[in-house]
Amino acid sequence: MRILVIEDEPKIARAVKQGLELKGFAVDIVSDAESGLSYGTDPSYDVVVLDRMLPGKMDGVELCRKLRDDGINTPVIMLTARGTIGDRVEGLDSGADDYLVKPFSFDELTARVRALLRRPANQVGTELKVGDLSLDTNNYAVKRGKTPVKLSHKEFALLEYLMHHPGQVITKDMIINHVWDEDADILPNTVEVYIGYLRNKIDRPFSKQKPLLHTLRGFGYKLEA
Ligand code: CA
Repeated sequence: MRILVIEDEPKIARAVKQGLELKGFAVDIVSDAESGLSYGTDPSYDVVVLDRMLPGKMDGVELCRKLRDDGINTPVIMLTARGTIGDRVEGLDSGADDYLVKPFSFDELTARVRALLRRPANQVGTELKVGDLSLDTNNYAVKRGKTPVKLSHKEFALLEYLMHHPGQVITKDMIINHVWDEDADILPNTVEVYIGYLRNKIDRPFSKQKPLLHTLRGFGYKLEA
């Protein structure tokens, strides 16, 4: 899943990017509200982490309001140094879905990002399920039936994205946009390679079960039981 971080303090932005990448997310950073507005309208992002205090004319609250006015409903977590009830209410009223006061623990940010990704849910608790395949976003455990499946970071990220859209046709472009960040030089071939890796781990060893990962030649892929 891909996350947009709008934060003007480079240290915090870098730390958030690194931390979220370790958890398997693709992360892009912008440092001002104007870029935040243009990036924020890109449907490739699954969650926006938005700093409330931004330099320039527009602050985080106003930016969030503009995104909502433009019909963008990507979940937004607002970061702020200010934690009074009035500030929190203003943030949420502007259309933010959640609110986190600086300094925050990294685990809490990740947990809140995860919580937002569960809405609207085909997910109960922290587990995604398609057929007998399960993926637990809390402890990064993937299983087919009762058999654990070991995935690399990117394979996990790819599978998580597919499991958020069961039964839907997912194009290579959608995968590139939601699983890799903007700095990654990804060719459609790379997606095929990763789909191959994934198939070798979730379908091929389970020849008695029906395959879950389907290729629709010329269209894309579908994860379906
Ligand atoms: Ca700031």
